[in-house]
Amino acid sequence: MTAPPATASILIVEDEAGIRRFLRAAFAAEGYRVVESTTAHRAAIDAASHKPDLALVDLGLPDLDGVEVVRSIRAWSPMPIIVLSARIQERAKIEALDAGADDYVTKPFAIGELLARVRAGLRHVIRGPSGAQVLRFGNVRVDLGARTAQRGDVELHLTRIEYRLLGVLARHAGMVVTHRQLLTDVWGPAHAGDTHYLRVYMKQLRGKLEEDPVRPVHLVTETGVGYRLLDDD
Ligand code: CA
Repeated sequence: MTAPPATASILIVEDEAGIRRFLRAAFAAEGYRVVESTTAHRAAIDAASHKPDLALVDLGLPDLDGVEVVRSIRAWSPMPIIVLSARIQERAKIEALDAGADDYVTKPFAIGELLARVRAGLRHVIRGPSGAQVLRFGNVRVDLGARTAQRGDVELHLTRIEYRLLGVLARHAGMVVTHRQLLTDVWGPAHAGDTHYLRVYMKQLRGKLEEDPVRPVHLVTETGVGYRLLDDD
């Protein structure tokens, strides 16, 4: 596993003082530098002036919707963005992801989960936009460049669509990819609503790659949102 730079800086956009204090302490303990914004307007300014390595954006802000913060950062920066959403913000959460946020954590969240998401986001920056070319899931190895796959010494046959689907997930390894994004990237914009394609193909992929396809640990469903690839990096 590639460690994030010890001095990575995180922009925390959150209006609740208690949560901010908690996050500041948790990130400082891990060696991150922290910048805090309490409004969407302030966040746009702080993101541009501090140029953090990653932004953590609460969706419920007092002035503008957090989705607007995602849009304004995405307009000029590829920095990883993780949104903090409440359970009642399902729609806003998906809107934020489709607007360019890389992942989400639902409040109330476990700090370990949030830190793992942040590490995945920063790792994405280190790996670059093409992602890992070789995926490992236990004794399964998939070479996305050569389009070959093996379980132990046994060759696995993956279809063209399956490789493309894995490729999109691998570019965002550790992070969620929405149904819309997967469908658009693999089948094209005309199929952005055809989520049944994904159910069919993910089932096939799990059958080939997962130890127990019924309890997948590498090709994970994010109910109502999309899928997440967790490889052994
Ligand atoms: Ca809030």
